[in-house]
Amino acid sequence: MSQDLLNTLIVISGKANVLFEGDLSAWELDWRKRSRGKALAVVRPGTASEVAAIVIACAAAGISIVAQGGNTGLVGGSTPDDSGRQVVLSLQRLNAVRHIDAANLTMTVEAGCILQTLQEVAEKAGFLFPLSLAAEGSCTIGGNLATNAGGTQVVRYGNARDLCLGLEVVTAQGEIWEGLNGLRKDNTGYDLRDLFVGSEGTLGIITAATVKLYPLPAAQLTAWAAVPSMTHAVALLGLAHKHLGAGLTGFEVMGQFALSLVAKHFPQQRVPLWQVTPFCVLLENSDHESENHARAQFESLLEMALEQGCVTDAVVAENLTQAHQLWHIRESIPLAQAEEGLNIKHDISIAVSRIPEFVETTDALLATAISGVRLVNFGHLGDGNLHYNVQAPESGDAKAFLRDYEDAVNTIVYDAVARFDGSISAEHGVGSLKVDKLEQHKSPVALGMMRAIKQALDPRGVMNPGRVVRI
Ligand code: FAD
Ligand code: ZN
Repeated sequence: MSQDLLNTLIVISGKANVLFEGDLSAWELDWRKRSRGKALAVVRPGTASEVAAIVIACAAAGISIVAQGGNTGLVGGSTPDDSGRQVVLSLQRLNAVRHIDAANLTMTVEAGCILQTLQEVAEKAGFLFPLSLAAEGSCTIGGNLATNAGGTQVVRYGNARDLCLGLEVVTAQGEIWEGLNGLRKDNTGYDLRDLFVGSEGTLGIITAATVKLYPLPAAQLTAWAAVPSMTHAVALLGLAHKHLGAGLTGFEVMGQFALSLVAKHFPQQRVPLWQVTPFCVLLENSDHESENHARAQFESLLEMALEQGCVTDAVVAENLTQAHQLWHIRESIPLAQAEEGLNIKHDISIAVSRIPEFVETTDALLATAISGVRLVNFGHLGDGNLHYNVQAPESGDAKAFLRDYEDAVNTIVYDAVARFDGSISAEHGVGSLKVDKLEQHKSPVALGMMRAIKQALDPRGVMNPGRVVRI
């Protein structure tokens, strides 16, 4: 049976694009090296019609499909299970930019396009495609949409969902839904596009998308500010919204310990101000007039923040190189954390106004539960989204820490998130890692509706079964 299916897949996509021998770890092992599966085969179709034919063939053979883009997902959703009975459907070869519609401010692209390529293509055409995250050199727009990725520009432009105006999707029945019209207004019933965005490959396979473009700003300035507490960081956010309006395109917070790890592991990066303050904030101001205008706006914002005591010290990047250096420090935190050793990651969200109290009370709970625990707290404060990560005590064995404390840490953090009406995943999604947690923290009514949707759209369980919701 498996051999019959392999032969059919070879007929559909060609021998070179059906891989089932040799080292397939690039597709079978996830980015965090936490989930290693075994695929029946990796198939790399070149068109949406091929994707549809693959879905029909797999469904007929009783074989399920794991869609995969850049395999940079962080929740074990993009790799196969270890049964050897799943096909990885890689979108890598579906990577054409089909069309830029300058008047409609849209770009229609295939799912396997690398995010950074899309940013570059848009810029060449004189536009901004604002989705931006540290994995942009290898993640794909299909994966970004399937996970509703966030990143560093959400405070102004929203997440992947907000940037999407249309999708082309291969359904679990192997039909092709053409939804690429690029309309900004369309109230003809249920929003199918939004159903597939964030569905992590469990409802259908995204083969193309129409995304929003924006005018390129005339100037982008970056500032780095020391703030005396998380409460002051939230106050600074309020001032920044008021003074910069739509110009505020980035607002990231970084805790002292998180920055100390960058200073320790990447000493060539000069981290400003981290020794003198519990938190630093990275702000970005995008301006459509001029660099002088942007600088004047930034200076008056920071003056007021200094006067009000929200900021104790600040630097504004003199040029683009300095701005990149500051962003690079922020983006290096996860890597510095990995250098320091194994850790427990969370990507939670809480209403911005409640973040200071959440951090204060949860820090205290963790410190009481685990003596010497180290908190790597950083993230997209502008969106109420923290990467509230937990590192083993300095002298401890990180492996033993994970074994002994991961469950307890998750319980403390997720129970706190629930008390503050937050979400256990603001960005990375559910995948396989958080299926249990979702069952504990999502309301039964919501879970019931999610299961009904899954059953209606994928009754045979062809699409990434066991991920997001269990039936
Ligand atoms: P994959 O990892 O291949 O897949 C992810 C999920 O989407 C899987 O469930 C898969 O089955 C599904 N999928 C993939 N392609 C399709 C498709 N065409 N149709 C249907 N389903 C599909 N995320 C954020 O939100 N914000 C961040 O700032 C951020 N930073 C990151 C930084 C690093 C260094 C890394 C490694 C990851 C980061 N992520 C971040 C995680 C984020 O989910 C991914 O980077 C990205 O969105 C996934 O794209 P991908 O192409 O790699 O998808
Ligand atoms: Zn993030």
